[in-house]
Amino acid sequence: MASKTKSKPARATRSGKAKPAGGARTAKAKTASGASTGVFSRATARGHEEVVFASDPSSGYRGIIAIHSTRLGPALGGTRMWAYASEEEALTDALRLAEGMTFKAAAAGMPWGGGKAVIWADAGTIDRPKLFRAHGRAVERLGGRYITSVDIGTGPADMVYVREETTHVAGLPTPFGDPSPATAHGVLRAIEAAVKHVWGRPDLADRTVAIQGCGHVGYHLARGLHEVGARLIVTDAAPDRAKRVAKEFGAKVVAPTEIESAKVDVFSPCAFGGGLSHRTIPKLHCSVVAGAANNQLLTDSDGALLERKGVAYAPDFIANAGGLIYLGQEVLGWSADRVTAKLDGIFDTLSEVFQLASEQRIPSSEAAVRIAKRRLENNR
Ligand code: NAD
Repeated sequence: MASKTKSKPARATRSGKAKPAGGARTAKAKTASGASTGVFSRATARGHEEVVFASDPSSGYRGIIAIHSTRLGPALGGTRMWAYASEEEALTDALRLAEGMTFKAAAAGMPWGGGKAVIWADAGTIDRPKLFRAHGRAVERLGGRYITSVDIGTGPADMVYVREETTHVAGLPTPFGDPSPATAHGVLRAIEAAVKHVWGRPDLADRTVAIQGCGHVGYHLARGLHEVGARLIVTDAAPDRAKRVAKEFGAKVVAPTEIESAKVDVFSPCAFGGGLSHRTIPKLHCSVVAGAANNQLLTDSDGALLERKGVAYAPDFIANAGGLIYLGQEVLGWSADRVTAKLDGIFDTLSEVFQLASEQRIPSSEAAVRIAKRRLENNR
C-alpha cells in the first residue's frame, strides 16, 4: 500500500478527515464473511486514530505507520520489516501490533500510547541506510505523535539511520543498547507471580521450566532462572543456542517438537507468536505458561482453552513489557533504579490480572485487556 507520490503520506483519520497527501489507494481485504472492507472500516473497528502510508520509490521504502492511541502519550512501538505476501497482510500486522502496544503501555503504567510501523520489504534486496532514512522522514512528519524503535527485521544499527532524520526514535545502540535482559527480567517476575498464583509461593527453586527459544530473551531468562535454582529444559531451532544454555546453566536440551509436551511446572514461549492454539494446548503438561513471545495465543478463544485446562497463563503483553519499560531510560530520562522498580512491578500487575480473572471467572487474557482498558480510561 504505497502512496503514489514520493515520500508523502496518506492519512486515514479516526475523525474521517482524510488527508490524501500522497494519493494512496484504498486497501481492500476480505472479512470472514467474504465482504470487502477498506482501510477506514478496518482501522475504526479497532479504534485506531490514524494510519499513515508512506513511500519512497528511490529506496524501495514502503511503510505503514499505525497509531492506535495517543490517549496516554505519544504512540510508541517498534518498526517491523518483513517480506509480507501482500499489502493487506502488512496492514493487518500494523493495525494488530499497534493496538497491542496500547494495551502493553497502559498495563505497564508507561506514559505512552500504542503505535507500530511495518516496512514491506525484502531484507536481501534493500539499501538499508537509504530505506531507514526514508522511514525516519515518515516518522518525522508525524511530529512526535509516534516514536519508533526496533522490532523483528530491524535492529539498533538501523535506528541510527532513522535518527539522522528524526529525534522520535529509540532503541539506538548506545548508550542503553539491547533491551532483551530487561525483557527477561520482567518475564522472570511474571513467572514468579504465576507460580505464586498456583502454588501460593513465588519460589522457583526446584521448579522445572521449559524454555522454547534460547535467543536474546530466552538466554537471559535461562540465566535468571538458573540463578534462583530452577531446573531447565530448553530448545531452539538453532541447536548451538540451546547447547550454549545447556553448557552454561545445566539445562537439558530437547528437540523443538518435544518442548510443548515436556512435563514441567512452567512452559515459557520465547521464540515466536501464535504458538498456543487448539493443536498445541492439549499437548501441554504444565501448570503455568509465561514467556516473552508476542501474540502467543493464536486466537482469543485460546485463552479460554488454557483456562479450561487449568493452566495459569501470563498474558504476553503483561509478561514481556520489560523491553518497553527499558525505553524509559532512553525516552523519559529515567534512572536505572526506576526502570528496575518498574520491571519488578510486573509481578504486581500480573497478580492483579489473576485476581480479577478469579473474581470475574474470566480467562487471564481477558482480565489483562480489562485492566489495560481501565488504566486507559482512568489516565486519559
Ligand atoms: P530472537 O530472535 O533473539 O530469539 C528467538 C529464538 O527462537 C531464536 O534463537 C530462534 O532460533 C528460536 N526459534 C525460532 N523458531 C523456533 C522453533 N520453532 N522452535 C524453537 N526455537 C525457535 O528473539 P528475542 O529477541 O529473544 O525475542 C523472543 C520473543 O520475544 C519474540 O517473539 C519477540 O517478539 C518477543 N519479545 C522480545 C523482546 C526483546 O526485548 N527482545 C521484547 C518483547 C517481546
